[in-house]
Amino acid sequence: MKDRAVTPAVQATGNDGQMIWSVVQDDLKHEFGEDTYKSWISKLECTGFNANSVNFYVPTRFIRDWVRTHYEKKILKSWQKHNSSIKKISIVINKPKKSSPISAAEPSNKSYQAVSVEEERGEFFQASLDGRYRFDTFIAGPSNEFAYAAARAVSETKKVQPGSNPLFLYGGVGLGKTHLMHAIAWHIKETNPKRKVVYISAEKFMYQFIKALRTNEMMKFKEIYRSADVLMVDDIQFICGKNSTQEEFFHTLNTLIDNNRQIVISGDRSPSDLENMEDRIKSRLGWGLVADIHNTTYELRLGILQSKVELMDIDVPKEVLEFLAYKIASNVRELEGALNKVIAHTNLTKKVITLANTQDILRDLLRSNERNITIEEVQKKVAERYNLKVSDMYSSKRSRNIARPRQIAMYLSKSLTSHSLAEIGKKFGGKDHTTVMHAVKKVEGLLKDNKEVSEEVRLLMKVMQC
Ligand code: ADP
Ligand code: MG
Repeated sequence: MKDRAVTPAVQATGNDGQMIWSVVQDDLKHEFGEDTYKSWISKLECTGFNANSVNFYVPTRFIRDWVRTHYEKKILKSWQKHNSSIKKISIVINKPKKSSPISAAEPSNKSYQAVSVEEERGEFFQASLDGRYRFDTFIAGPSNEFAYAAARAVSETKKVQPGSNPLFLYGGVGLGKTHLMHAIAWHIKETNPKRKVVYISAEKFMYQFIKALRTNEMMKFKEIYRSADVLMVDDIQFICGKNSTQEEFFHTLNTLIDNNRQIVISGDRSPSDLENMEDRIKSRLGWGLVADIHNTTYELRLGILQSKVELMDIDVPKEVLEFLAYKIASNVRELEGALNKVIAHTNLTKKVITLANTQDILRDLLRSNERNITIEEVQKKVAERYNLKVSDMYSSKRSRNIARPRQIAMYLSKSLTSHSLAEIGKKFGGKDHTTVMHAVKKVEGLLKDNKEVSEEVRLLMKVMQC
């Protein structure tokens, strides 16, 4: 067997390289999000390697410069995680004549053609829609159902309702804003193809605006945006602090609203919380319907995972899905990323997906997602659940209706925090570490034989890990 660690650069044949590139792409997608990835990183075509560098081709000078300034360092860093002998990334706009196995990859060739044709014609391009982001693949739950309903309503009504114009969707990263926007666009395109839908990220809007200024194409720029029946601008926070872009955006917004065209905007915070955004724009953005997407619940995360594996038609044990839904509460993008990583890894290594494999593959990710649950929090939740006072948790009362929940709280403190038995005992009214150990053992026994207690503990764990 070859020793990959010793001479990685030489070992980086087409296949190895391709694998690394696809893992790196995955990393970047997760770090920067689907939109940025699609707009910029997906335009890179990996054309081969030298001993210590990776070569890329991009179709235009602009993309090259942008990627160099914004993403090159990250690409290199991510690549070095897998092959430390790579010291340099080279990006060129002249396509090498002979392509290595990597450059034959289908998708990048396609995107290259699409962009270069557009650039040749000097047209402004709008972002393409992701075929997976539809209403029927969006799982609604308490945290997003208002935004979901609003999105559906906007996509279904033929006549623009002033009360829902603009529709402003906001929420943290990876919670489904872009998914909902694409779903609106798809729905309108399918049910009402005559309506002109323009979907664009605010970042790209800015870039096109600057480009139009530079190339004297402002008329054309205005025409594209002002002729839209539905204008959707994603991640509006990107133009915070960008004064001239804001100005242009504001005029576009006013013109369209005055002409009764639908506007849909997304942002990472509410209109009034956007910093470095002019007040009149903030106020205009908040005129219509403002819908926020909250953090997901455990049930929603599990539902999303179930629907994803169904769509991919892959068998993943239920306990693995439950584990992921427990552990990765930060955002849906990370959750999906974790699932994909597990599937890709087990696929490559030809292993079956088990809970143990999953924990192993996701070790680093899980560490960063560890919630810092405190003993006080455990005591509070357990007391609430059993209708007790928190002080009952540190008392020495021995009646069973108090002693049992207290033991459960000790068990949960041991399982969910990194405190020692002695530290836990102290927080439970100065009890001895052996008392805590006894409680932990007792509950472990009950988990095996007592269905009621094991259900209770499971539920409490859920409550605390969400
Ligand atoms: P945002 O734009 O808010 O940062 P995205 O719309 O890009 O987030 O969502 C990140 C990923 O999570 C996407 O792949 C999306 O399909 C998925 N996702 C988010 N919320 C849901 C949901 N409720 N149902 C199904 N998939 C979801
Ligand atoms: Mg988004």
